[in-house]
Order: sequence, then C-alpha cells, then structure tokens
Amino acid sequence: MKISVEPEVTIVGAGLAGTEAAWQLAQRGHQVRLHEMRPEKKSEAHHTGDFAELVCSNSLRGADLKNAVGLLKEEMRVLDSLIMRAADRHSVPGGGALVVDREGFAKFVTQEIQNHPRIEICHGEISGIASLGSQGLVLLATGPLTSPALAENIRQLTGSEYLYFYDSIAPIVEADSINLDIAFRASRYDKGEADYLNCPMNREEYEAFVAALVAAEKVATKEFEKPKFFEGCLPVEVMAERGRDTLAFGPMKPVGLIDPRTGLRPHAVVQLRQDNLHATLYNMVGFQTRMKYPEQKRVFGMIPGLEKAEFVRLGSMHRNTFIHSPVLLSDQLELKSRPGLFLAGQMIGVEGYVESASMGLYAGMVLADRLKGRELKPPPPSTALGALVRHVTGATGADFQPMNINFGLLEIPKHLSRKERRLELAEQALAQIAAWNLGNLAMGGAA
Ligand SMILES: Cc1cc2nc3c(=O)[nH]c(=O)nc-3n(C[C@H](O)[C@H](O)[C@H](O)COP(=O)(O)OP(=O)(O)OC[C@H]3O[C@@H](n4cnc5c(N)ncnc54)[C@H](O)[C@@H]3O)c2cc1C
Repeated sequence: MKISVEPEVTIVGAGLAGTEAAWQLAQRGHQVRLHEMRPEKKSEAHHTGDFAELVCSNSLRGADLKNAVGLLKEEMRVLDSLIMRAADRHSVPGGGALVVDREGFAKFVTQEIQNHPRIEICHGEISGIASLGSQGLVLLATGPLTSPALAENIRQLTGSEYLYFYDSIAPIVEADSINLDIAFRASRYDKGEADYLNCPMNREEYEAFVAALVAAEKVATKEFEKPKFFEGCLPVEVMAERGRDTLAFGPMKPVGLIDPRTGLRPHAVVQLRQDNLHATLYNMVGFQTRMKYPEQKRVFGMIPGLEKAEFVRLGSMHRNTFIHSPVLLSDQLELKSRPGLFLAGQMIGVEGYVESASMGLYAGMVLADRLKGRELKPPPPSTALGALVRHVTGATGADFQPMNINFGLLEIPKHLSRKERRLELAEQALAQIAAWNLGNLAMGGAA
C-alpha cells in the first residue's frame, strides 16, 4: 500500500495527457497526486473506469516517419512516453497505421500509473481549483469533455469564453455479424497483411447510400450554436452533403482494392478495422456520425456485408471545448493570469490522441524543471513536438483552431522543404529532439 505523501504536483484528469504527465514527473523522482472522476462520474463519451481510454477510433494514425504523426510518435518514444509504450505493446494489425487493442492499451496505462510508487490516485470529480487546497503546482488535463462545474471554474479563472467544435464517434460492429461472403480482407495496395475488412459497393448501391445518409434524421446541435466540425473528423453525413462523390474520394475511396468476387475495383468501399486483440470487434473507419440511433441501424444496414450487423456501440456527437491558448498560456503551458496553474491535452487546442498525450509529456517535463527552479526551453520548432507547442502558445490570428500535427506546422529549413524530402526532415527532427533531451538531462532533468 502506498503511503500518502504531500504531492509536489497535483494533476486533474487521468486521460491521455494527464497520465503521460504524471508518468514523466514520477519517473523524474517527483511525487504526484492524480485526480480522476471516472468511474464515479463518466463523460458522455467515456465508457470505462480505465485511464487513457480511447473514446472513438483505436488508431493512433500513421506509423511511417514520412507522416507528421509518425514523427511525433517517434519523438515521444525518444522521450520515453508511457502512451507510446502502451501503444507499441498492445498494437494490433492496422496496415500503415499504429492501431491498438483499446482495452489492453488502457489497462496497461492504468496499471503502470496505479503501481507507480510516486503516484497517488484520488477518485472523484474536482469541481473547482479551490477544492484542491493550496497544493503547489497544478496541471489540468481534463480534456475536451471537462465536467461542467470545472469547465465553469476554468472559464472564470481565464476570464475568457470557451471556443468549441463538434466531434463525433464511429460505430463498432461485432465481427461475427459481418457477412464474410461479401466483405473481403485486404489493405489498400496490399500494405500490411490484409488488415481491413472491406464492404464493396457498386455505383447504384453507393448513390442510394449517399442519398440515405443525406436524408437521415440527425441529432440537432444546441439552437444557439453553429454546428462547427473539425475538418479532419467530419461526420459521414456532412461529407455526403458536400457532394455525391465526396465520400468516394474520401473514407470510401476504393483505390488499391480489388473485390475477389468480381476481380474488379469496387465503386466505393466501407472499411472496417480490427478493434480488439481477439478480432471480435471491428470499427467503421471514418464513419463518425450524428445520425439518430435507429437511423444509423437502418442506413448502415444498406452497406453490403453489414445487412445483419450487430452494433456494440453506435456513433454519437459531442461538443469539444478548448481555450484560446495563444492568448492565455505561456510556452510553459502555464496560465499567464495564474502562475502555478498549467493546462495540457486537447483542451489547449491540439487535436488527436497522440497530440494530446504529447502535450502531457511536455507539461510533465516543464513541471519537473519548475520543481528544480528552472524553465524548460521548448523543443525546436523544426521538431513535431516543438511545432505543436509553438502552435498552441504562439499562433497568431483571432481564429485559433485545434490542429493535428502536420508538416506545415514545422519550421522547415529551405533545402528540405520539398515533399519528397520528408524522411530527411524527420531524421533531422529526431536528432534534434534527442539532443534537446540530452541537454535537459545534462542540466539535471532526470531523477
Ligand atoms: C467524441 C470524441 C471523439 C474523438 N475521437 C477521436 C479519434 O477517433 N481519434 C483521435 O485521435 N482523437 C479523438 N478525439 C480527440 C482527442 O484525441 C481525445 O478527446 C483525447 O482523449 C484527448 O485527450 P486528453 O488527455 O486531453 O483528454 P481525455 O483523454 O478525455 O482525458 C481527460 C480525463 O479527465 C477526466 N475529467 C474530466 N473532468 C474532470 C473533473 N472535473 N475531475 C476529475 N476528472 C475529470 C475525464 O474523465 C478523463 O479521464 C475525440 C474526442 C471526442 C470528444
């Protein structure tokens, strides 16, 4: 049993950012208290009491270094990320993407945190900063679905209204309810080992499906709010509304796939990706939706191969809130108006599991340095991590929007700026992040 010691840092939220920050601090020898409201109180999107629960897709996206998120993940491995350890240990086949068994992934993170001798866990909702008492440094990592009471408290502390956008979740299907006489196994261009199940459609089926998506009943947003969506994760019916061919050139593109029954490329496909270790569940790739539940069953039942699909989870839509970080935060992720209070994760205006965890990782390093009386110099903006820190704390313009990591955010030396030089750019960024880390270690950043 762990002895309760006064924490040097209090963290609220044991999601992707909060657990990563706690781990980084504890590994550097610091005592952490981590508050988590689940399982007593769940958000609208979380279903379990496990830490670092992945609320929607089980993909941590591209694994390749030529891909900016692949680079960010590799930089996090260099920095000994807990989230990357969990992902690598619990990966399942996913073609060119790093895809994880969501249950194994979250259980691994939960156990590592629970068993760490320097992390104390407190269950229950934190409704305001004041309820934490005067406990030194505080990190809020409560995510885009921060509980309403705490969200209101943060709004008062920042003196600034929240920004928001809508994000939605894709359905999960039971594997043995998929008709394998129709759905076929393959990865686009045979990348990976036939990791996806593909439901093929001919032109007539596709057009009828698109029309049904457009006509289906949707869950309404609040009357006074415009339904702003994150462009990288649009509901499938919003894409359908943009034009008849939008889906066929988007998540339903058939390129690199041949239907073995016909020997031809289908007009469009719905791809299903393995969702758990035992391959008993599959999720519908890119099929996040805000259709009403009965409509989802009806419209998705039109997909060849899914006529009798049993859904263990249907799609849903949630309001994500985030703060206007470039105005409110320093490059230490510290609230300018409230020294000693730090924020990390999706609520500071990054988008995605990996990006959220990376902000927790950086916050953990910042806090460890602060405890040693130093200020951590952010990583160079030519690295993926440095570019994200610069985006959330230094972006200009009134229309600040959450971002996935992309090469456009990196400061790219002119001679490396061409697309085909991405690998060289990534290798240079990795060397820089390693040097930056070594510099921190030499200053006494590690335990
Ligand atoms: C509906 C939806 C779908 C998404 N789908 C994807 C996707 O498919 N792929 C992707 O890459 N990203 C997705 N995201 C975006 C983002 O990557 C995730 O939200 C990610 O989990 C954010 O990490 P985080 O650590 O900031 O927050 P979270 O992982 O949500 O962690 C926050 C934690 O704080 C806890 N908490 C909240 N309030 C309190 C309180 N008052 N007291 C104590 N604890 C509290 C929560 O229970 C939670 O455990 C999605 C987001 C949403 C909302």
